[in-house]
Amino acid sequence: MKRTGDLQLIKELNKSIILDIIRKNGPISRAEIAKKINISPTTVTSAVSDLIRDSLVIEGGTGESSGGRKPILVQLNPDVCFLIGVAIDASKITIAELNLNAKVKRKEVHTLKDTEDLDLSNELIEMINVFFKKCKNLNDCLGISITIQGIVNSEQGMVAYNPKLKINNLPLKSAIEAAFKIPTYIDNDTNGSLLAEKGFGNYQQSKNLIYVTIGDGVGASILVNDSIFRGFHGGAGEFGHTTINYKGAPCNCGNVGCLENYVSWRAIYSRIVSEINAGKESLLVEEVKGDLSKITPELFRKTIYSGDALANSILEDVSFYLGIGLVNLIHLFNPERIILGGELAFENPLLIQKVNEHIYSYALKTHTHNVKVFPSSFGNDSEVVGSASLLLHELFHFTLK
Ligand SMILES: [Zn+2]
Repeated sequence: MKRTGDLQLIKELNKSIILDIIRKNGPISRAEIAKKINISPTTVTSAVSDLIRDSLVIEGGTGESSGGRKPILVQLNPDVCFLIGVAIDASKITIAELNLNAKVKRKEVHTLKDTEDLDLSNELIEMINVFFKKCKNLNDCLGISITIQGIVNSEQGMVAYNPKLKINNLPLKSAIEAAFKIPTYIDNDTNGSLLAEKGFGNYQQSKNLIYVTIGDGVGASILVNDSIFRGFHGGAGEFGHTTINYKGAPCNCGNVGCLENYVSWRAIYSRIVSEINAGKESLLVEEVKGDLSKITPELFRKTIYSGDALANSILEDVSFYLGIGLVNLIHLFNPERIILGGELAFENPLLIQKVNEHIYSYALKTHTHNVKVFPSSFGNDSEVVGSASLLLHELFHFTLK
């Protein structure tokens, strides 16, 4: 049976740009599409017919007439097929079903119990298998889109380096494709988050943008003139491993005094534990009834806003160190805006406010005029929307304009 919305077919016929115009502007007439991208109405009509045949686009309603018959409008049919988004971090795998508007339809979170002997490919195949059992029709699955922390060679589909999961050169894409015979995409998590903002978020117009993730790791994705800057080995954006203290503690990357060791959840958690063990009082102790292993980033964020002195003093330091890193990024790349995502930035307006105060105090005024740090557009779903955006970017080509 033919797959609905065959990705290859769409790419071959170069219909993705027209599909993107329809997605963003629909309901829209064929004539308006032709005008917007300056191509012949015949080409648009033929491409739209193909898209309607593939059920990716549907007709509905009529537009204003410019003399003759009223034009029939077309729009995206976002639920005609679905895709699977998988977000892998150091402690969990989140797997979700999404539609063509990157809307999450169903989501599951699996905690990784044993990361020491983790066989990631097989673990993931098993998880997707179980997840697929609850999907209606696998013929409607457009693809599997995976994001993971660390250095990823997206063209080769390889996780090149992930120290937390102890991965070196893992061919994850080919393993998943061999298991399911479904097109699979893979990239670094922060690159996915940046693509999500460009395709579906509140900051689509920005051509020079930096997305910084702060969670159990710290990373950055850098958009330069509307394309992701990847560097020679695909490893650009290792923001967490830039040095902010040359006399600092050794990091698992081999460097010393890396930013990540001051602002990541791992760093925050170990500071919470050592301060409480040294006798500091905190609402966190009550919240977890003395079991400090139960303290989560969510709980930490919550206690900040309950006025807890320990949580607030840690937030102060995190904002300061993160601010130092952001000033460096601003001076190097002069971005239009910085988006702060990840578990620690989610629902944490005080962190956003404090890093903004820091950059206005310390960065060059030429670089901070009309520049601001913003929260991510997708809140709690940002990880899987980021994953899905790898595939949706292939479908719609939304940064290539
Ligand atoms: Zn490091």
